Amino acid sequence: MEYYSGRISSLIEELSRLPGIGGKTAQRLAFHIISMPEESAERLAGAIVDARKNICYCSRCCTLTDSQFCPICSDPSRDQKTIMVVENSRDSAAYEKTGQYHGLYHVLQGAISPAMGIGPSDIRLKELMQRLQAEEIGEVIVATNSTLEGETTAMYISKLIKPTGIRVSRIASGVPVGGDLEYIDEVTLMRALEGRTEL
Ligand code: ZN
Repeated sequence: MEYYSGRISSLIEELSRLPGIGGKTAQRLAFHIISMPEESAERLAGAIVDARKNICYCSRCCTLTDSQFCPICSDPSRDQKTIMVVENSRDSAAYEKTGQYHGLYHVLQGAISPAMGIGPSDIRLKELMQRLQAEEIGEVIVATNSTLEGETTAMYISKLIKPTGIRVSRIASGVPVGGDLEYIDEVTLMRALEGRTEL
């Protein structure tokens, strides 16, 4: 016997497809949404549809944004000679929260993972190399995660950039092995940045 009517079940089902949302949480969220004032539910649904339709990749750093260039790339007060390479937009957001990094970013949108069949051409490396040709960059700081994939990606980037003569450094291992950048506290992130070593 179906416990809930079709519309409730389908809302629960859609919510339970989201990462980290199990069946119970999906039910709780569904009933919360149903009890919301209609305008609030419409605002939530509208924000989801709007974000999905209008978010694109920044033409310069490949982060997710809603215009051709993201706010950081369009800010002339940022240090235009330093690029920090991260795996995803959440990682650059973590560094932004420290308020101590003033350079630019490049967001790879992933990491090399032979096990998952993700090769160098599946992440935004070509875009990084194009930037290094077009912009006057003095240092590339590789801040990929301390996972096997992150380290593999860092090695690969170092090999690519070395011949260009641009300085390549790797954030210090203050970031624990297997650590996801977005979950690490700001002090550790700052120490990792300050203690970076040349690759
Ligand atoms: Zn950008």
